[in-house]
Amino acid sequence: MSSKRMLLLISTLLLGFACASRIDKISSASPSRTTIPASEFSSKEFDVIIIGGGNAGVVLASRLTAPPICADMPCPSPLRVGVIEAGLHRPGDPLIDVPTAGNLLGNSGCGALIGNPSYDWKFQSVPQDGLDGAVLQYPRGRVLGGSTAIHSMVWQRGNRDDYDAWAYDLGNGPGWSFDRLLPYLRRSESYFAASDRANPLATHTLNSPGLDSLRRHLDNFHGHDGPVQVSHNSYQTALERPASLSLLNALSDRYGHPFVANYNPDGGDAVSVPLFGTSRTVSPHSGLRSYAASAYLDSQSGVWGRPHLSVVTGVIVTHIVFRDTTARSVKFVSEANGTIYEARVAEGGEVILCAGAIQSPQILELSGIGNRTRLENLNISVVLDLPGVGENLQDHPVTLSDFSVKDGVETLDWLALNKTHAQLHKDLFEAAKIGALTYTAPLLAPIPLRALLSTTEFAVLRRELDISISHLDREGKLTPFQRIQYNVLRRLVDEGNVGWVEMVLVPTGGILGAPIPGKGGATVIAIQLYPFGRGSVHINSTNPLAPPLINPNFLPEELPWDSQVLLAGSRFARDWFSTTPIVDFIDKPLYPPASLKLDDDEQCYKYMRGSVRTTNHPLGTTAMAPRHLGGGSLLYHVLNLISEHDDRTGVVDSSLKIYGLDNVRVADAGSIPLTIGVATQATVYALAEKVISIEDQNFNVRLKMYRYPI
Ligand SMILES: Cc1cc2nc3c(=O)[nH]c(=O)nc-3n(C[C@H](O)[C@H](O)[C@H](O)COP(=O)(O)OP(=O)(O)OC[C@H]3O[C@@H](n4cnc5c(N)ncnc54)[C@H](O)[C@@H]3O)c2cc1C
Repeated sequence: MSSKRMLLLISTLLLGFACASRIDKISSASPSRTTIPASEFSSKEFDVIIIGGGNAGVVLASRLTAPPICADMPCPSPLRVGVIEAGLHRPGDPLIDVPTAGNLLGNSGCGALIGNPSYDWKFQSVPQDGLDGAVLQYPRGRVLGGSTAIHSMVWQRGNRDDYDAWAYDLGNGPGWSFDRLLPYLRRSESYFAASDRANPLATHTLNSPGLDSLRRHLDNFHGHDGPVQVSHNSYQTALERPASLSLLNALSDRYGHPFVANYNPDGGDAVSVPLFGTSRTVSPHSGLRSYAASAYLDSQSGVWGRPHLSVVTGVIVTHIVFRDTTARSVKFVSEANGTIYEARVAEGGEVILCAGAIQSPQILELSGIGNRTRLENLNISVVLDLPGVGENLQDHPVTLSDFSVKDGVETLDWLALNKTHAQLHKDLFEAAKIGALTYTAPLLAPIPLRALLSTTEFAVLRRELDISISHLDREGKLTPFQRIQYNVLRRLVDEGNVGWVEMVLVPTGGILGAPIPGKGGATVIAIQLYPFGRGSVHINSTNPLAPPLINPNFLPEELPWDSQVLLAGSRFARDWFSTTPIVDFIDKPLYPPASLKLDDDEQCYKYMRGSVRTTNHPLGTTAMAPRHLGGGSLLYHVLNLISEHDDRTGVVDSSLKIYGLDNVRVADAGSIPLTIGVATQATVYALAEKVISIEDQNFNVRLKMYRYPI
């Protein structure tokens, strides 16, 4: 609450008009003329119905309605595509557009977008056993553009090993390897390399070939004509540079050899301090957030004029209607008046679920697709017994540390504390679209676990991990899919080539506790990038408006590794901020307090657990996995008859089509089978770009004609 007040104050100071007036404007916003009324939408028939106009859904809508490439063959009639989205279309909304206006505090749960029902579904987790029963805020975007409209704008690609594991270890085929996904990662972005005004975070690591050629290299590596605008910060507070140097110093001390900054974190190796800072989805020209709806719909000329694209907003999909295993229509309800509508799927058409890792499983279960027992207990008629739906939930837990900074040290808090500073940045924004108003956190450094622990500590924890996994396996608690996942994760941590804990600086206080009047602060976030805990999301009501039960299963007791890893990150935060030069900027630790003894495990665990939150990267709940790992083969059906433990985890095949259904896909973060060592939006964009290009015999004939060459 106190943070929210601070944010409102900041917004007021920065934007030069009262926050209240903006809220008024927003709450009176109605579907724009770019969308159509529900009654009109339901009178149409569609070749493709997309459920959820978020990160992935908007990409599909834009690409599938683009003029077809017919080459020598006669051009088919355009696909009729309908998008059904619960949130509204909000072009020009300053809370979304101005990077710091709505999301200054990122995933703290305190931003003006997060927790605001006009933008956020405002979900909560179930009480977390591993966190003494704590209930966590679980924000999800509820607006055309989905979570990309409310998120922290961090733009990162996963490690080569992440995608290669989906392709080879998990058996989804080479099409999902890093090399084969790269064209789609590039296809979504227009990347602008850091300009001179954005200082590299750690120049001391620059030897040859020097800054300019490094910039050129980065420039060559990225896409330049995709819809999403990707840039680097134009402003730093006093903290990023010393914090980066201290991070490298502290890691070099621990690791025993120099730890250097990474000049190309998007090249399949995301490890270490990014030399130019982590890039973000902000246009360097307008200084505004670039998100799915603004990038793929509003900024593309003519998209909204395409007669075969229909978008309805402000309505909630209740379920898909099937005849046998074929989706025939989609039912949805108007939020405004409760009217129920139905949109028809044309003969040979498809439904593509893009409602995200939390709500695609919810809609499937409401439609009769899921674990038979669960559905029957709710009196839902079973269309398909597919127990993997809603299982395999993976998310990145974080722990936070809070510091106050010395007087006179410039942080983001100055926007609230210092009128002259606030005016300067307001002017900068208006004149040149740069400065603190366009700020996103640039220091996100994924660190290998071996660098955070001594050799002995690492060996002890690894042995304990093996023991706990064997124990779970002996008790029959691991699915075959999980067994493979755990083998992959153990290999990755042993090899030490991927960052296991991401250390993040947010140069403002007041995220964890109330801001100290007149005093600036800094928050350090340690993100556990490869958790072993597996959670779930399921309905417990047939009411489509009731929130699902979300259980990320953070820091489960039966896998102490997850707690131990996060504790290592939390302890390292203190070390990091006690290292030169950042230590000279710090007044004192606030949370955990200065009195904390770092060798007191019990105390350290208590503080660490007390600040755990989600990074908002849920995935895996409609996982892509080959048929023999649970897609519903005959063998698995037979095994299920004789086994009490149902281990069919896979839900979609490598073209993201649901096993056992004729014409339904899931293309969103839920299809990602195994966590990646970074934030998720760039991967979701690429996944959506890829799904329309997949070479797949099962793919609908009409869609096939529209495949994009890349
Ligand atoms: C607060 C927050 C901060 C984050 N920060 C970052 C970050 O900085 N960088 C990063 O890379 N990733 C970040 N992420 C994660 C990233 O945004 C998501 O992983 C990604 O955007 C998910 O895309 P999606 O298409 O799966 O779902 P979404 O983008 O969430 O889209 C789902 C859409 O479906 C709609 N929908 C759901 N149910 C229904 C229904 N029943 N009827 C109609 N419509 C429905 C929703 O309203 C939404 O528009 C963040 C996420 C959040 C929430």
